[in-house]
Amino acid sequence: MTKFHILTLFPDMIEQGLSPSIIGRAARRGILCLHAVDIRDYTRDKHKKVDDYPYGGGAGMLMQAQPVYDAHRAVTEGRPVRTVYVTPQGMPFTQRMAEEFAKEEELVFLCGHYEGIDERVLEKIVTDQVSIGDYVLTGGELAAMVMIDAIARLIPGVLGNDSSAGEESFYNDLLEYPQYSRPEEWQGVRVPGVLLSGNHRQVAAWRLEQSRQRTADRRPDLYEKYQKKQCLIQRLSGEKRNNIHMMESLSRGRADILYTDFRGRDTAVLLYDRKAGICMMTALDRETGERMAELIPGDTRMLLVSEPFLRDILFKAGYALFGEFGQFLYTRKETLPVKHREIRTLSEGDIGYVSKWYGTEGPGLDDEYVRERISAGAMYGAFLEGRQVGFVGIHDEGSLGMLFVEESFRGRGIGASLEAWAVNCMLEKGWIPYGHVAEGNEASARLQERLGFYKAEKSFWWLEKVLAKDT
Ligand code: SAM
Repeated sequence: MTKFHILTLFPDMIEQGLSPSIIGRAARRGILCLHAVDIRDYTRDKHKKVDDYPYGGGAGMLMQAQPVYDAHRAVTEGRPVRTVYVTPQGMPFTQRMAEEFAKEEELVFLCGHYEGIDERVLEKIVTDQVSIGDYVLTGGELAAMVMIDAIARLIPGVLGNDSSAGEESFYNDLLEYPQYSRPEEWQGVRVPGVLLSGNHRQVAAWRLEQSRQRTADRRPDLYEKYQKKQCLIQRLSGEKRNNIHMMESLSRGRADILYTDFRGRDTAVLLYDRKAGICMMTALDRETGERMAELIPGDTRMLLVSEPFLRDILFKAGYALFGEFGQFLYTRKETLPVKHREIRTLSEGDIGYVSKWYGTEGPGLDDEYVRERISAGAMYGAFLEGRQVGFVGIHDEGSLGMLFVEESFRGRGIGASLEAWAVNCMLEKGWIPYGHVAEGNEASARLQERLGFYKAEKSFWWLEKVLAKDT
């Protein structure tokens, strides 16, 4: 459960501001915790004073260091908790930052008042200084609430419909398309015909075009970023089977481009999926590989590479082999037939089953990952007369995988149906399905080919960060 501690002189403002909202509801459901702390409770001044005049003169009062420090200590109890001071002097808050903060289990927000806070305590406790825009508010409470709202809605389970955070403005450097609800005609203006057509593909194409136009008109800065990504996707499409993981990561709005270098038809790329903590890399030669290795962000959990020399460079940089895989790509647009009837999206109650079986054959990941994937609505289960017998899922970085069917239920086409189901879910989102099959798993490789997947020429290696022994 994510915990938000808000250090403030106006705790009521936070409680009243957030409790009626979706965020307040999520707190009541135990998905997150909102903890407003009154800094005044920590002053040692007998008149409960928390502010004083600034040294050197100047207008207004300043919040003193001691009450802020003691309030922070009381909340964190010595734990190294990320502490955000909301201030007009900070980095501008963005959707990307919201995504990054949403990964933390605990966050402290420090709200200033008057002319601000004594610099010495900020130096001691603050890890991030963040602003909500180039204007000055009377206090930090509204700014903290803005940030908490944007962060909290990214936590799985907070929004009723988990996919609704996935298609909004900023997710792909594009602003959202125009939306319409009933009635079909209002004050003589009709809803655009394509939205009533029932043709998902046409609707998606129309929305994308509207998003592009809107972004080009209103936010040329964002549109330039979008175009840069489109150019790279175009280049990578020259070798689609080998590059589909990077193309999809870019087109689904997940990846930042940290490095690119083109020579003739060859491309060196370093992509960083901040949300998943994953880097994807392809290099021209040892030299570009080494240059890219230096740019890998510190919080990278796993890396996907497709050149042996790059793999070796990363071994030296402290990453270990997770496994060798073949990359399979589904190029058709048509959905696949699903023969097995009992398949559904998994929910919280299914975590135990998946955790029990996941990783029993081949490389596994921890329960936390299974929990996260299920709450993101990205895992599907097969059932026989109500009893679960297998599952499949879509990994955090976008590949299809985690396919499993209990041994005694194999040979009945359940695995093929599960995979077809996941393929269809991906197609519906406008994604190109691809996945990784562990080298040597012939049965799974044959299944991919039977379903119409093609294998990349290159081999792929997933690497993981080696944690120091004492952590
Ligand atoms: N004297 C300060 C300065 O010029 O940076 C401004 C202090 S402001 C009046 C009081 C408090 O409101 C700040 O300490 C900060 O916590 C909050 N605040 C004001 N504007 C903000 C903004 N744009 N983003 C985030 N927090 C803000």
